[in-house]
Amino acid sequence: MTQNKTIMVALGGNAIKSADDEGTAAEQFANVYKTSRELVKLIKAGYRLVITHGNGPQAGNLLIQQEEGKKLVPDMPLDVVGAMTQGQLGYMFTQALGNLLRAENIQTPVAALVNQVLVSPDDPDYQDPSKPVGPFFTKEQAEKLAVEKPNWKIKQVKPESVEKRFRRVVASPQPKANVEVEVIKKMIDAGIIVVASGGGGVPVVQGPNGLEGSAAVIDKDLAGAKLAELIQADVFLILTDVSHAKLHYGKPDEKNVETVSLDEMKKLAEGGDFLAGSMGPKVRACMKFVEAGGAKAIITSLDHAYDAIQSGYGTQIVR
Ligand code: ADP
Ligand code: MG
Repeated sequence: MTQNKTIMVALGGNAIKSADDEGTAAEQFANVYKTSRELVKLIKAGYRLVITHGNGPQAGNLLIQQEEGKKLVPDMPLDVVGAMTQGQLGYMFTQALGNLLRAENIQTPVAALVNQVLVSPDDPDYQDPSKPVGPFFTKEQAEKLAVEKPNWKIKQVKPESVEKRFRRVVASPQPKANVEVEVIKKMIDAGIIVVASGGGGVPVVQGPNGLEGSAAVIDKDLAGAKLAELIQADVFLILTDVSHAKLHYGKPDEKNVETVSLDEMKKLAEGGDFLAGSMGPKVRACMKFVEAGGAKAIITSLDHAYDAIQSGYGTQIVR
C-alpha cells in the first residue's frame, strides 16, 4: 500500500459525456459511474484523491436553457451557471463514488464543494476573449443580443453560409488562487475525498465590496494544476481520451511522449504539436505544476489511470 499520497485528478469531457451521447441525466450518471470505478481502484490502493472535472457540455446546455427560458423566468449569468454545473456534477460524483465505496465496505467520505477561483481583472485575455460559450445565434439574434446584453462579446465563429454562425465569447483568464483552498486542505486532512474546482472553478475577481463573479471560463486543467500546487499534491493526473500526449499528432510518424523531464517537455512543447484548446493547455498545466515544485504530472486516458500511477504508463513529466 502506498500510504496517503495525494493525487489531484483532472477529468476531461468524456469522463461525463461520450461524444455521441445526447446528454441525458441517465447517460451522465452512467459515465460518472464508469469513471468512478477507475478512481475507486486508486482509492483502494491507498491514495487520497482530490477530483476536478470539466463542465463544457453541461454549461453549454444550461446556457441554452437560460436563452430559451428567459421569456418565462430570469436567465442566470455565466458565473451562476458555472456554480450550478459544479453542483450538478459534484452531486453525481459524490453519489457514484459513495455508492461504489460503500458497496466495497469502504467508509471513506466523499464531498463536493462549490468552489471559487480568483482571477485578475487585468488578465490580458479579457481584452481579446476567444472562448465560445452557449448556443449559436443567427445574425438577427446576435444584433438583438448586442442591444439586450451590452456586456456580451459576440463573434462570428462559422462561415457566412451557415445560418446560426454567431456565438458569445468570453475570456479564459489564468487562475491566481483557489478561494476555498483552506477548506479543501481541512477536508483532505480529515480523510475526505474532495470534488472541487469543477469547470475550472467559478471565476471571481476582487471588487470594491469583496469577491464578484466574472463572466469568464477558466481552463479546468490550469485550475486543477493551481489547486494541485496549493494542496501540495504528490501527483497531478490529467485523465482524457488519449493514452499519451503525442508528437506529430495525427501524422503517420506520430509518437507517444513517455516519461520526460520538465526541461525536455518544455523543448517538445516548442514544436507546436500539442494543439491549442485541447492538448496544449494540458501540457502547460502539467509543466506549471512541476515548475511550482510538484514531483510528477501525468497525462493519460481514464482506463489507464491505475497503470499510470502504479507502473509509470502514459506521458509523465517529472522534475
Ligand atoms: P478533455 O475534454 O478530456 O479535457 P480535450 O478533448 O480538450 O480533453 O483534449 C484531448 C484531445 O486533444 C485528444 O482527444 C486529441 O484529439 C487532442 N490533441 C491535440 N493535440 C494532441 C497531441 N499532440 N497528442 C494527443 N492528443 C492531442
Ligand atoms: Mg474533450
